[in-house]
Amino acid sequence: VLEATVTPMGKRLLRQWILRPAGTLEEIHARQAAVAALVEHWETRQKLRSVAEGIQDLERLLARIALETASPRDLLALAASLERVPALRASLAAGAPPRQSNELGARLEALAAALEGSPELVDAILTQIVASPPLATAEGGFIRPGVHPELDELRGLGRDAKTAIAQIESRERTRTSIGSLKIRFNNIFGYYIEVSKPNLHLVPADYERKQTLVNAERFTTPELKELERKILSADERCRVLEMELFAALRARAAAQAAAIRRDAAAVAELDLLANLAHLAAEYHYCRPEVTEGGALEIRGGRHAVIERLPLDDRFVPNDLHLDPERRQVLLVTGPNMGGKSTYLRQTALIVLLAHMGGFVPAETARVPLMDRIFTRIGASDNLARGRSTFMVEMTEAAVILSQATARSLVILDEIGRGTATYDGLALAWAMVEYLHEHSRSLTLFATHYHELTELGRHLERVGNAQVAVRETPEGIVFLRKVIEGEASRSYGIEVARLAGLPRQVIERAREVLRHHERAEARTTSTLEADATPQMQLTLFTPLAQQLVDRLRAADLDRLSPLEALNLLAAMKAEIGNRE
Ligand code: ADP
Repeated sequence: VLEATVTPMGKRLLRQWILRPAGTLEEIHARQAAVAALVEHWETRQKLRSVAEGIQDLERLLARIALETASPRDLLALAASLERVPALRASLAAGAPPRQSNELGARLEALAAALEGSPELVDAILTQIVASPPLATAEGGFIRPGVHPELDELRGLGRDAKTAIAQIESRERTRTSIGSLKIRFNNIFGYYIEVSKPNLHLVPADYERKQTLVNAERFTTPELKELERKILSADERCRVLEMELFAALRARAAAQAAAIRRDAAAVAELDLLANLAHLAAEYHYCRPEVTEGGALEIRGGRHAVIERLPLDDRFVPNDLHLDPERRQVLLVTGPNMGGKSTYLRQTALIVLLAHMGGFVPAETARVPLMDRIFTRIGASDNLARGRSTFMVEMTEAAVILSQATARSLVILDEIGRGTATYDGLALAWAMVEYLHEHSRSLTLFATHYHELTELGRHLERVGNAQVAVRETPEGIVFLRKVIEGEASRSYGIEVARLAGLPRQVIERAREVLRHHERAEARTTSTLEADATPQMQLTLFTPLAQQLVDRLRAADLDRLSPLEALNLLAAMKAEIGNRE
């Protein structure tokens, strides 16, 4: 979806920018300015892209040149590509009359200035290599006439000898009156005169027999042998000479490697910046305001991939507001299929694109500089590698909780699904608290545990959003709109009904659910009263475990009374510290 590069170098660089986006405002702003200029100057962008399109993979060609495996065709490709480099520079220079060159901005100017094109090398290649060299290099024939006097002379000798042989053929036909007499050549026997069986009686006495076939005999003559020697030695010498000339040309290209690599890098970046501009123009992306810190604010954000899929309905854009001071964590609830994952992922994609220096699929966006995007998304299942889904989920969560900082974006899509409901809920609850208190990362947390929305009431910087659905007599309708507030229920059964589960199963499920909810209401009302102390208890769990471990490890039979007292004091002190 993001790829619209026209060169292999640009394509590789896109991959790099996605994997390692820019980390400084300065770099991001420089790229943005270049993209903006190319969005605005439509003609420049088209020109740039159409010129760049003919530039082949300079880096790969260079690699072959360095390994001495480059063929004459490779050198021609190199020349044809480098030949376009000045044209590329021209497309960026003050081309069209009304335009001032400085309108394009510093980054594009610098890239244009970096383009060299190695014109002398191009000239050498184009004057020495024929326009369409043979595939097989060993046969020669790829150096142009006029490049080397000895080569031309030898080729002349070879040609003359071949003409002489043609003359001999017609002369011998007349002399022997064998109409079908032919002079041929093969790699093993060289030149020979071939006479078919019925004509053998006409063969003159000065023919020497060379080879006997079923239907013919092959002969030679001293005159033919001499010509053959001339032709073969001329051919051989030609081949050697051509290879020498070619090796020299290749060495010349190798000597230009540094300059060509600089061109390749500039071409890659120009191609990619034009790519980002193309996306912006074609799909209505906006220039995000990337700032040192503060809120993440998106208006009319879209999912770059899903909006391009042929959907039944149009993609519904959504707003987002995350704020380290007031709304650091956003819990997104709503039914399965409601659009929660999409909302989370589109946010991560927008932040990523903004850090690449690109425009983003939104109406407006304000993105604070971030150090990393952490995601925990249920798509990858490592069962094949011997780890259960839940284990993978927890391992990923552990990485996030230990590494995410206040400058990170954390995307958690359905944490704790792989275990029993209450386990999962408890883990999810504790993780949100941890992210809120310790990591302080901007966090988007999608869950169908509507019970979690409770957190919004307990924690200062947690907000609730939900994906809207409309309940109709026929069932629920997904509106795909993210709105404030929390989903009151999970709608799991409704979604299952839409998926076509038998009516009997759906009705039974509703019954079981009602039953459970009644039971739950009774227990939670008793738990509610001391919910806060319970929450705090969980903070002590690790310490309690440590103390238990130490007690277990202590060997009372060998402990002196004084040591026992010391142990007790130490343990007591630890509890004291925590309090
Ligand atoms: P959830 O995570 O809530 O289960 P998803 O995000 O996977 O839901 O969305 C389910 C499907 O709904 C997506 O595959 C997509 O086709 C559609 N969808 C999601 N968000 C939107 C949107 N904003 N506009 C249109 N269709 C959407």
